[in-house]
Amino acid sequence: MTTTRIAFIGGGNMATSLIAGLVADGYAPDSLQVADPNPDRREMLQTRYGVRVFADNREALAEVDTLVLCVKPQLAAQVCSEIADAASARTPLVLSIMAGVPEQAIQRWLGGTLAVVRAMPNTPAMVQTGAIGLHASPEVGEEGRNRAETILRAVGLTRWVETEAQIDAVTALSGSGPAYFFLFMEALEEAGISLGLDAETARLLTIQTALGAAKMAVESEDTPGQLRERVTSPGGTTERALEHLLKADLHALMKRAAHAAHDRAVEIS
Ligand code: NAD
Repeated sequence: MTTTRIAFIGGGNMATSLIAGLVADGYAPDSLQVADPNPDRREMLQTRYGVRVFADNREALAEVDTLVLCVKPQLAAQVCSEIADAASARTPLVLSIMAGVPEQAIQRWLGGTLAVVRAMPNTPAMVQTGAIGLHASPEVGEEGRNRAETILRAVGLTRWVETEAQIDAVTALSGSGPAYFFLFMEALEEAGISLGLDAETARLLTIQTALGAAKMAVESEDTPGQLRERVTSPGGTTERALEHLLKADLHALMKRAAHAAHDRAVEIS
């Protein structure tokens, strides 16, 4: 990876996942500068990853070429305004992982039409298996896109979307998606218990089945639909179960749920 100096504003869970991923990928820890007002957080980041830590957001921006905004969305305006001078003078690329904060608002608060990449990661980024949607403002060149992608690839799979509005669709799909799969796992686990399995056995078999199905889907060239057909023998047990799920119109239900998440994402951005 080309060495660039990166400043993280906010050193919470998501920033820590990115830092862990970058360091594991061989990124030089002393090229990573993190600002967080919480001293425990700073100490943990410094001790565990060897990164440079700062209590003052502006100080963390010294000599960086990428600024990663990792504070809660409700702090976005305050934090951007506070660092505006330092950021617009020195930072070619701003990467924001803040949910629901538009690129133009970030540019306005930072006081310039800076190159902004907006990213929507999800919680599996914490185990380096995130699914991340990215959108670039028109000011971002190829080098900036590559840099943003390289940083986020440290925690998972990245996909660019064409319009900023599609970030709301990403939020509804992969942003909220882990919870949909957790709910499905909960339901399957309960079904296993109702069939007489003990709770631990039902849970472990459910989780491993989810992992195995996901691994097959990742490694196979077939679509999930084709994989499903392949494991469904005519007249067999799987077919009997799927009949119930399809009769309940799981596809329509999923669509309604994702659209509701999308409506909410639009509402809060
Ligand atoms: P977090 O609460 O773990 O981290 C926020 C950090 O910001 C904390 O360490 C806090 O001490 C620090 N902070 C507070 N005030 C600050 C200030 N004035 N200046 C600098 N730092 C300050 O939150 P998180 O889960 O890491 O989320 C960070 C961002 O990532 C949010 O904007 C969220 O929308 C976005 N995001 C998170 C997820 C997720 O799964 N966690 C998914 C998508 C997007």
